[in-house]
Amino acid sequence: MYALVHRKTNVITAKDAAALLKEYSILLELTDEDEFRAKTFANASRQLEMQTETLEELVKTGALKSIRGIGKTVVTAINGIIQTGTFQELERAKTLVPEGVLELLRIEGLGPKKARTLWKQGKVESVEQLDHAIRNNTLPKLPGLGTKTLEKFLSGIEFIRKHEGRHLRHHAVQEAERLREVFAEINGVSEVFFGGSLGRGNETIGDLDIILTCANEDVEAVRQMVTDSTDIEWSDKSDGILKGQSSHSIDIELSVIPIDDAPLRKLLATGSKEHLSQLSKLASAKGFTLSDSGLIDSKSKVLTVGTEHDLYSLLGLEFVPPALRERNCELILKNSGVYPTPVRLEDFKGIIHNHTTASDGHHTLREMAEAMIAMGYEFFGVADHSQAAAYANGLTPERVRKQWTEIDKLNQELAPFRILKGTEADILPDGSLDFDDDLLAGFDYVVASIHSGFKMTEEAATDRLCRALENPHVDILGHLTGRLLLRRDGYPIDHRKVIACAAEHGKAIELNANPHRLDIDWRWLPLCIEYKVPIPINPDAHDIDGLADIRYGVDIAQKGPLPKELCPSCWSADEFINWCATHDKR
Ligand SMILES: [Zn+2]
Ligand SMILES: [Zn+2]
Repeated sequence: MYALVHRKTNVITAKDAAALLKEYSILLELTDEDEFRAKTFANASRQLEMQTETLEELVKTGALKSIRGIGKTVVTAINGIIQTGTFQELERAKTLVPEGVLELLRIEGLGPKKARTLWKQGKVESVEQLDHAIRNNTLPKLPGLGTKTLEKFLSGIEFIRKHEGRHLRHHAVQEAERLREVFAEINGVSEVFFGGSLGRGNETIGDLDIILTCANEDVEAVRQMVTDSTDIEWSDKSDGILKGQSSHSIDIELSVIPIDDAPLRKLLATGSKEHLSQLSKLASAKGFTLSDSGLIDSKSKVLTVGTEHDLYSLLGLEFVPPALRERNCELILKNSGVYPTPVRLEDFKGIIHNHTTASDGHHTLREMAEAMIAMGYEFFGVADHSQAAAYANGLTPERVRKQWTEIDKLNQELAPFRILKGTEADILPDGSLDFDDDLLAGFDYVVASIHSGFKMTEEAATDRLCRALENPHVDILGHLTGRLLLRRDGYPIDHRKVIACAAEHGKAIELNANPHRLDIDWRWLPLCIEYKVPIPINPDAHDIDGLADIRYGVDIAQKGPLPKELCPSCWSADEFINWCATHDKR
């Protein structure tokens, strides 16, 4: 068993402060006021991001001042953040930049420099204006902003519009956890329930569908307390469902209901639409009606149920877990009752794909390993970048061998805990790997990923991945499509071909648990499971905090549902290494 690094909701962490310093440095870049100061704050933000202590601890122990790159001006800003949640210069800088200019930075490939040019020289102050100006060709000629770049911005804008109002899973989860605490404190509330895409474990979330249950006679009082006492801005509290927005800009729909109504209302709030429509068809076939008013029999009698399980059972079904109530539910309903138990966090024995300061990570190998030990794991897989990833300080063969020596030493010291020698080797454009066979043969395992040359046809990308899978040294494909959720689509690939190829060669495909990726997409998990392709859940952690991201991968794995037998993160180090060795390493 182990404990996960957990963020307390009401304390300002170093990461929160880092985000504010970063925001300030971006504002400075946009106004071009003081380049040096912008760099100072950007650097301080990076340094702070690596700290795991709370800000107050850092200040109290004096550790803050000893962090490289954090001087007097930054300390003053941080003191402001601790006292007021912000600092003076940040607030001043905010007044100098129109909000719409900051919004431009959401467009893929549009950084502060280009935004400044568009704003100052092109008079563009919002995404809408940029869209309009490009389409109508009204922008003056601007340095660094040729036709091709502008066309790319247009598709970036389209992408943003398509995903408007959606949130990454981890942001929604953090907000939901905070609100759960708030609502649980209200007198009379017996359950705080989250339905919708959050409850179904999806990778992005539209709004938070919340149900509070209480005794029949308390409904009005609880409703009143909810609307009075929380930090939600309510836009509609007239009747039925309360609508509003949380202080973190996530839309909320909340109902307060008597406990007796809970099974049906939870079912309806969880969805999906497709699942509910399948259920209602099934109900009709059995002579029932399933609607907002409940499950009604042919004599118009509302059937009372004690739990959601009972509802399913009245329809002749086993309970379908929320994670599986998706579009493919027809199939799921047909096979109802035979779900394998999905992987749980407590099944994990090790974490396979992680980085250290040797490449672009923020903690050393020893620090990462010791954190893993403290959390009760059996092994840690280091998989730093390979040499082609120069931007990420990828390791040369010489540095790889040095790391191996370090691992051997640490393994002696830390036994029985084990560090496994891995690499995240780049898949080069022709599908070959970034290291030669001799070196690759020396690793315990090899994760192969694409980090550059994303502009490919589906055919080229599929071939590139399949060539990598055919390489006898490769064990796992990393972040299959390179997508960044709500930011950019991945390169197009033929999932069926790649999954079949992995099955043929006995290789694994990771479920990258970084909440920005969650790649392989869960819609393909059933096919991987059918083909018995192992799916390790890899946080791709770049610091100790990042290890906790496996929880988001586990949420997604429920949607397979992925059994622990197919998840190498739940195997012992020996089982994992022996499995890697079964690959034909000629
Ligand atoms: Zn990678
Ligand atoms: Zn990685």
